[in-house]
Amino acid sequence: MNFTYVSLPTRVVFGAGSIRGLAAEVERLGARRVLLISTPGRAQMVRGVAQGLAVAGVFDRAVMHTPLAVVEAAREEARRVNADCCVTVGGGSTIGFGKAIALSSSLPVVAVPTTYSGSEMTTIWGVSEGGTKKTGRDPKVLPRAVIYDPELTLDLPVAVSAASGMNAIAHCAEALYAHDGNPIISLMAGEGIRALAAALPKIALHPKDLQSRTGALYGSWLAGMTISTTSVALHHKLCHVLGGFGLPHAETHSIVLPHAMRYNRDAAPEAMARIEKALAASDAATGLFDLEKKLGIPMRLADIGMKEADLERAARIAADAPYPNPRKVEYAPVLELLHNAFEGKRP
Ligand code: NAD
Repeated sequence: MNFTYVSLPTRVVFGAGSIRGLAAEVERLGARRVLLISTPGRAQMVRGVAQGLAVAGVFDRAVMHTPLAVVEAAREEARRVNADCCVTVGGGSTIGFGKAIALSSSLPVVAVPTTYSGSEMTTIWGVSEGGTKKTGRDPKVLPRAVIYDPELTLDLPVAVSAASGMNAIAHCAEALYAHDGNPIISLMAGEGIRALAAALPKIALHPKDLQSRTGALYGSWLAGMTISTTSVALHHKLCHVLGGFGLPHAETHSIVLPHAMRYNRDAAPEAMARIEKALAASDAATGLFDLEKKLGIPMRLADIGMKEADLERAARIAADAPYPNPRKVEYAPVLELLHNAFEGKRP
């Protein structure tokens, strides 16, 4: 058993009502001029959350894919108000803006995640320009503190909750067979899948159930931890490639995941056994597929904007520059995987 384990220094405050400690978290960093970041839709809610905080400015124009032009506007706003800290309240898109500002300025970020993307626990940043997304890892962008308050997630629409939750499960699943995985990460990944798989079907039925929301947010924290220090493989590569065809991030992850697990099944038996245990299912791929069916989310790439004519090109891109993966990544079986995901076949 040989492995390397790295732990990242983020301070995590978890629990219903924990948002009331936001001002104290900012004070711990010695910050006095906060730039508050949100998407336009969440701007009002975020201002409510920020009461009592030393807010120097608000940037409420965060959008998906962190486009460079909008990032530049956010960086300019941080300079203009002389911010000494960014507080992001929202999902992966919003956190992406805090990270982009930190990347060029080293401003500390305090993240208040309200989806299950897990971005708040990683050093991964991404900025898009002209249809391509540049990504990288940099310790500067890692939030110094993260406040997980499930009460802030009660209004997260069921469809977003489900897709974002499956995205989190995908982080855990690939961490279980990552070439740079380790026993601690595997424990977190198994527990993350268990917590999310238990919570998501209940959220689909009762979106305002605080206990289920707490379970899902707990699972997403673990999922974020798993991708923070391990590499992703075929599943994430395919989703990255499909993102280049304009497909939505979380939905793509949820559709591809069971098929990617089927692809890797025989090459990663220990990982599959952990997933099966966490899902209480006899097969990882079908277990994930059946979980998704209960959530009422799209099950076919055809339903989220993929064109059948583009499948071959997607398979070619994925096979030509693969990420390390337990099973060799080859064009023909990857194309078959994509066809199955396109049609929404039970794997
Ligand atoms: P998102 O941040 O785009 O949010 C989706 C929508 O939900 C937005 O309209 C948002 O305003 C709304 N919303 C968020 N929280 C809400 C709440 N509590 N109640 C009601 N509405 C709410 O979606 P996401 O899935 O969280 O993030 C996806 C993005 O994150 C992608 O761009 C992806 O690349 C990135 N990401 C990055 C990392 C990383 O480590 N860097 C990891 C995972 C995802």
